[in-house]
Amino acid sequence: MSDVRLMIDGQEVVVSSETSILEAAKQIGIEIPALCYDPNLEIEAACRLCLVEIEGSNKLQTSCSTRVKEGMVVHTQSEKVVKTRKDILQLLLDSHPNDCLTCQKAGECLLQKYAYDYDLKFRVHDGAMRPQLLDTSSPYILKDNAKCILCGKCVKTCAQVSDRQVLTFAERGYETYIALDANQTLETSSCVSCNRCVTVCPVGALVDKRALGKLRSWDGSSRVINCKRCDYGCEFEIVSKDKKNIAVLAKPPTNGRPLCLKGRLNTELEYIDEPEVPYRKISGKFEETTWSKALSLDGLLEKFEKMDSLKGKTREE
Ligand code: SF4
Ligand code: SF4
Ligand code: SF4
Repeated sequence: MSDVRLMIDGQEVVVSSETSILEAAKQIGIEIPALCYDPNLEIEAACRLCLVEIEGSNKLQTSCSTRVKEGMVVHTQSEKVVKTRKDILQLLLDSHPNDCLTCQKAGECLLQKYAYDYDLKFRVHDGAMRPQLLDTSSPYILKDNAKCILCGKCVKTCAQVSDRQVLTFAERGYETYIALDANQTLETSSCVSCNRCVTVCPVGALVDKRALGKLRSWDGSSRVINCKRCDYGCEFEIVSKDKKNIAVLAKPPTNGRPLCLKGRLNTELEYIDEPEVPYRKISGKFEETTWSKALSLDGLLEKFEKMDSLKGKTREE
């Protein structure tokens, strides 16, 4: 692996020859917009938003999937690049619900951010709009296919854990949507409510239902803690408002961390001031449950009680 020297938007950068243009640009503070790119996931170059112009090439290239080369001269904001990005974003906006005012993802949504950066608006048009396809069956996740931009990040991140692989692309062309198992709901599918998919969704198509209506991205403060339930130490954000801990949000699962529902509930119970009731899935149905059952502590609690009463008896004797 050798180092190469290239120019990006007039700035020189030296990086390893294995680096993508997108990552090389990031190293010198140039952000190239991308909806489907995630350094922890296999590169797909599906959204095409990260296109850049490379001198000597007629075609624009996706910067997430193109490696740097010695002497390369790259333009990330040329007229041609900006026009193409605007066209792509406008197409996405044209089939996206215009409910940014009330969307839980407002302030964090990448489509909203890029539309603002490129001065694009929702517009009245004759084309098709995605029908609202809300899956409200889970107490943990809200899925809205109408907001999905088909970046595929949820599919890939779910599949990284071998016994999950719940999400797939269904249908084709404009009808394409993200399905669970063979067209099941979050409740009836094999989804384990780990929230991995929620952490990577760039828009409001997958949101944490337990945080709905409790906070906006710019509200309150937050800190990151590691789950103590097992050695993976997955990360969660504890969100506080008015001196109260109000929500636990899963952080993206890096370094092979799996995330799981028990770890999340454990974190809620430990940190949240007024945790909501837990639910568990029994034979494809979510049912309200007790904290000891949700955290599989029933057996342990019985053992504690037995040991405590034995101790009491020994003392009496
Ligand atoms: S919550 Fe977890 S198991 Fe369910 S679809 Fe998302 S990533 Fe897959
Ligand atoms: S649900 Fe979100 S992460 Fe999944 S494909 Fe749609 S936009 Fe991407
Ligand atoms: S969230 Fe689950 S997998 Fe992650 S550390 Fe906690 S218990 Fe372990």
